[in-house]
Amino acid sequence: MSVEYYLLSRKTYDHMIAHLEAILELQNTLDEHPDSKFGNPLDVTYYHEEIQRFIQLKDMCSRRIMELCEHDYIDDEIDVGPETSQKITYCQICEHSK
Ligand SMILES: [Zn+2]
Repeated sequence: MSVEYYLLSRKTYDHMIAHLEAILELQNTLDEHPDSKFGNPLDVTYYHEEIQRFIQLKDMCSRRIMELCEHDYIDDEIDVGPETSQKITYCQICEHSK
């Protein structure tokens, strides 16, 4: 498999995790409403398990990327405050930072 495939997979799993977390948060918003009367129709355990499963898949992709990527590291500075920045070194291909 190619680095590109694992990069796409990692990004896609990230999106899936974000959507699953958003569903849980939306349900919480309904549950916390003073007029809430439908209870929680979600199988919360299922969603938490799915999130963990996608985190494991994402971690596996990250390990494969580390094995396959021919890292191309560059130095950069990122803003960490209004007038402060931090130097970082990261791979332009897979975004791994040192
Ligand atoms: Zn890399």
